[in-house]
Amino acid sequence: MTHADDATLQNARDLLQRVYGYDDFRGLQADVISDVMAGRDALAVLPTGGGKSLCYQIPSMLRDGVGIIVSPLIALMSDQVDALKALGVRADRLDSTMSHEDRLAALQAARAGEMHMLYVSPEGLSGGLLNALSQIQVSLIAVDEAHCVSQWGHDFRPDYRALGRLKTAFPGVPRLAVTATADDRTRDDILAQLDLVDPAVHVASFDRPNLNLNAEPKVGNKNDRLISLIRAHKGESGIVYAATRKGTEQLAEALEKQGIAALAYHAGLDAADRTERQRRFLLEDGLVMCATVAFGMGVDKPDVRFVMHADPPKTIEAYWQEVGRAGRDGEPAEGYALFGSADLRRSLMWSYDSDAEEAVKRVQINKTRQLFALLNGDACRRQSVRQYFGEHDATPCGACDNCQAEDGELFDATRWAQMAVSAVLRCGQKIGRGRLIIHLMGQAKDGFDEDLSQQSTYGIGAEMTKSGWNAVFDELLFTGLLAEGGESMRPFIFVPDHDVAKTLFKGDREILLRSDPTVRRVRSRGGKTTSAAFADLSTRDRELFDLLRNWRVELAKAKGVPPYVIFHDKTLATIATERPADMVELLQISGVGEKKAGRYGEDIARIVREAA
Ligand code: ADP
Ligand code: ZN
Repeated sequence: MTHADDATLQNARDLLQRVYGYDDFRGLQADVISDVMAGRDALAVLPTGGGKSLCYQIPSMLRDGVGIIVSPLIALMSDQVDALKALGVRADRLDSTMSHEDRLAALQAARAGEMHMLYVSPEGLSGGLLNALSQIQVSLIAVDEAHCVSQWGHDFRPDYRALGRLKTAFPGVPRLAVTATADDRTRDDILAQLDLVDPAVHVASFDRPNLNLNAEPKVGNKNDRLISLIRAHKGESGIVYAATRKGTEQLAEALEKQGIAALAYHAGLDAADRTERQRRFLLEDGLVMCATVAFGMGVDKPDVRFVMHADPPKTIEAYWQEVGRAGRDGEPAEGYALFGSADLRRSLMWSYDSDAEEAVKRVQINKTRQLFALLNGDACRRQSVRQYFGEHDATPCGACDNCQAEDGELFDATRWAQMAVSAVLRCGQKIGRGRLIIHLMGQAKDGFDEDLSQQSTYGIGAEMTKSGWNAVFDELLFTGLLAEGGESMRPFIFVPDHDVAKTLFKGDREILLRSDPTVRRVRSRGGKTTSAAFADLSTRDRELFDLLRNWRVELAKAKGVPPYVIFHDKTLATIATERPADMVELLQISGVGEKKAGRYGEDIARIVREAA
């Protein structure tokens, strides 16, 4: 009895069509739903946009009782509840921001079985509430963003640890853990921490075919570079992640000066301000959010067209989750990451200095190295991420900057790398990059340490430009042949592993750069426009699409919900091309369920008629 029977699955499919207006399940949805319907514990790892919510929403509607959904963020809970209500599904939430009366009312309704789903926050599951919930007939328990339960994940939340209690509090109730992020270790930890019983584990491919990924080393003025990249996405919504609060504010200001609508978002803003900015991002089209990682979880905006990293993320998991916030609607979207050796240093320092246990530190350091190898490497980016997540049969995407790079673009810098490493050793592994470059170029002025200019490596690299040397040092740091130590303000460069360094001198190891470092770096990539499906509409259809969008904006404003809660862009674009003549035709359009057809059918028919 591990799978539900065909009839159950058919019921689920009928519900999918009737309520959500979708034709069929995607990816692993049917498998996951089938397990939950059969009453089995399960873990589902699906990529962002993979349709995780349906995996617990549909069984909640089909099974007797109330589905309890544990969700880490209040914003996420209220978005989902709003979206469900818009579909005509009875759902409510319980969280600390609600009044005592509202909470009582929600509990009362749940007890009376008057709803399909109740969203609760993890801290809400402490003592008292757990008792109150035990009086409800619970159909299933879903733990959203389940990686938060693990300290190996990148979003560990102590609150989540308490969820282990759910097993004893609700014996026999199937529990479903869902997440978009989990390497093997995190996956095992989720199963252990939640104490799932004989769980079915579903891990979807991490491929996101609509994401076009790019990364490049930081050169020159960062904001200028970002502005030119963002210009190629005129009128589209996007997120730019920066490492510091100040960075987010400066960038937002710079964008505003260029006439690009932008907001900053970070944990230093007060809560009301944060909520308001997040709300604007959801409600307005074409806003650029310049944010720290405080922004994002729970922002289920489907039409984010780009995610840029003004500073690199912490790990590949974090990268995938952050960049994964683009293109949840399945339409083309772009990721663009900038990275520098100072970022690598900061990230490593952060791990060395953290209070974590040695083993955790080692994992963090390793993860940092893997991230930079990916950003700086020349392998297909999407393939690299998928392999990192254990998909060893992943093939190159053909679309990322590395896949698109022409052959022969690589420059063999092995000779220069040998000079650099020799110089580091000769100079005693105690000076920083700036002085090493002066040394290599033989440009010591008065006051430069005598003994450094006496070394045999002095001036051996005079033919290379300073920026060329910087590129060589970056590469050596990124690949770990060299490392930086000392205080962050005055780092020195050393050789962390002499055996590895030897392979460089023996000629067993090549150092390849993406461009000839002796010539000025020309930026050829980036600045291309991604186009969502609706950008391909004919002029006539585009006019109708715009009319529908205007109607949607007004309606959304009046209802106080994000526009996509009414209809997704994709659905409006299909209406614009198909021009449904009646209710039957309207219902065939993907994303139009019964409730919405009933509610908006007349409006749509009128707009389509008027545009004809
Ligand atoms: P996740 O939580 O995994 O990131 P969501 O559950 O928010 O993803 O789903 C992403 C988007 O895909 C939503 O807009 C959802 O309505 C849509 N979606 C989910 N399942 C299907 C399906 N079977 N067919 C079409 N669209 C779907
Ligand atoms: Zn690729």
